[in-house]
Amino acid sequence: MLKQISILGSTGSIGKQALEVVDSLPDHFRIFGLAAGANIELLKEQVKKYKPEIISVKDEQVALELKKEIANVKILWGREGLTEIAGCGENNLVLIAVSGINGLFPTLAAINNKVDIALANKETLVSAGNIVMERARNNNVSILPVDSEHSAIHQCINNKDINQIKKLIVTGSGGPFREKIYSEIANATVKETLSHPRWSMGDKITVDSATLMNKGLEVIEAHWLFGIDYKDIEVVIHPQSIVHSAVEFKDGSVIAQLGIPSMHIPIQYALTYPDRYEGLETGSLSLTETARLDFEKPDLEKFPCLKLAYEAGIKGGTYPAVLNALNEEAVYAFLNGKIRLTEICKLVEKGLEVHTSIKNPNLDDIIHSDNWAREFAKEFLNKITVS
Ligand code: NDP
Ligand code: MG
Repeated sequence: MLKQISILGSTGSIGKQALEVVDSLPDHFRIFGLAAGANIELLKEQVKKYKPEIISVKDEQVALELKKEIANVKILWGREGLTEIAGCGENNLVLIAVSGINGLFPTLAAINNKVDIALANKETLVSAGNIVMERARNNNVSILPVDSEHSAIHQCINNKDINQIKKLIVTGSGGPFREKIYSEIANATVKETLSHPRWSMGDKITVDSATLMNKGLEVIEAHWLFGIDYKDIEVVIHPQSIVHSAVEFKDGSVIAQLGIPSMHIPIQYALTYPDRYEGLETGSLSLTETARLDFEKPDLEKFPCLKLAYEAGIKGGTYPAVLNALNEEAVYAFLNGKIRLTEICKLVEKGLEVHTSIKNPNLDDIIHSDNWAREFAKEFLNKITVS
């Protein structure tokens, strides 16, 4: 039977690769819904090829124009469009691959309507992990991780009781500035920052990878997905990106997941779980050609964002939501040339310092804190200019 899926963020890095996975397994999937932001030309090509029943774009005006061009497809827009597609009962699975906090409401809509989720969008779990995981458990909805490290951990745990786990080892390439000194990082251009040595990804996550905030967000994501204490989640820098993460069990056995650095593999795993098929010709891993695998501790002096993320995660409450929102605003300010790369962390640190956290936050508390953080970031950014 064909699995009906919807892809939110179909024009992005993850969305496009997910459609390549779908192309490689034509007997397995049918596309029910697609959602994009502003890349309307690509979305139109996708509509022609995959014939979805429902689509959504960011802006109302664009949606109204599209309605004149495209027949027999329900066309929606904005946050309501994303949540309506995610919540459609016709979906067997929805892939949440929009970037940033935009992922939160469609994720909750899918959970409310008992639709299983392939989750690429880590910001959702960072901001509201407590609420998302609790609702998913109550509604018996599966959240399958797409992020390569979490896909690796999911494969290593392989449904074992989490009480058997000693620690999670989350690996990371270290990004483009692993070997640079702090002053070089401070002067990094947007172009240098967007040249990731191993992975080709959207701009936001590529900047996060350069500051190691991405690894910090992933630690919080792992905490919520797998229910493991922060003290038992270790980050290890592994420049070759072959070991995608590992789990140490209480008996001393360490199980790791290896593979070539390709997002097609974790995307396909989430889409076809629990089955595995020969999918895209991504090539197989040759250990002899790989020759060496290096591992080192992350440098928290050079990459303080990772430390901030651990601290926010451990303190809990609304700190992680605030960390995420401050970081999102700071990353876009960097991409727009308003601040230096190292000022991202300064903005996040300042915001976390003055934030009054709410314990056991509900959804309103999280949204309120997210808004507060974005206002704080705007004021902070108004006061500084790049020197
Ligand atoms: P991209 O920036 O490449 O893609 C984002 C997608 O979301 C695009 O399709 C974009 O549309 C769409 N979008 C943005 N805003 C809206 C909106 N308001 N309404 C509807 N659609 C919107 O990001 P990535 O694919 O790199 O990342 C997506 C998510 O997956 C992120 O949360 C990231 O952290 C996570 N992730 C990504 C990995 C990767 O390898 N890329 C690895 C692990 C996790 P458009 O382009 O048309 O404007
Ligand atoms: Mg990752």
